[in-house]
Amino acid sequence: MKTINAMLFKMMVLKAGENILYNEPYLTEVDQIIGDGDHGIGMKRGFLSVQKKLAKTEYQYVDDIANDVGLELIKSMGGASGIIFGSLFIGGLRSFKKKKVTELTLNEFVCFLFAGEKAITTRGKAKIGDKTMVDALVPANESISKNASATKTVLEGLAAAYKGALSGVEDTKNIMAKLGRAKNFKDKNYGVPDPGAVSTSLMFKGFYEAALEYQTEVEELKGN
Ligand code: ADP
Ligand code: MG
Repeated sequence: MKTINAMLFKMMVLKAGENILYNEPYLTEVDQIIGDGDHGIGMKRGFLSVQKKLAKTEYQYVDDIANDVGLELIKSMGGASGIIFGSLFIGGLRSFKKKKVTELTLNEFVCFLFAGEKAITTRGKAKIGDKTMVDALVPANESISKNASATKTVLEGLAAAYKGALSGVEDTKNIMAKLGRAKNFKDKNYGVPDPGAVSTSLMFKGFYEAALEYQTEVEELKGN
């Protein structure tokens, strides 16, 4: 599989949401240790709202999905992290040369992710090592971009992105938070991952799992 069409993109977002919802208690737990304890609840609210929106809409175009996902996250979550996670999708749209895109090559998806990353860092000013979701997003993006040549499949690219995000989450365990409220919990920081970084890895996990599911379904259809 070499492209991400609208159906797969929708599945990727829904699977990301499923993983976030399932892990809400864990996200809450880590944010209780180093933050104010609302990250899991906020992300859950955001992805429930995304689920609702996507369920009642038939999509033909990837950009329409990205736009709706970003807007729903920003609208429903509120606060800093709503804008941060929403910006990944809304900012990502800037990479599309034209509107009404029915499918993305792996390389185009990488451009989408980089544009989203740029929107997040421009807005939030977080750098690698600040113990935020950027610490998971940047290695995920680097990793997928190294695995996005024409010979690579979508599945290979997304697997690499997930792996990169996971290594970023591990790194956040060893850094002291500098931004936001997390800086108030200095001594508790070590050994605890950043909640937003964990959410980011759950999102990439969902992207990968959805592609795996989609590919299996397509192969089964071909076999029949
Ligand atoms: P809040 O910090 O408003 O309580 P959440 O608890 O929902 O919001 O989200 C916290 C997460 O947001 C952090 O774990 C971190 O990953 C992310 N975050 C906070 N500030 C920034 C920033 N400036 N840039 C990127 N991510 C950030
Ligand atoms: Mg919080």
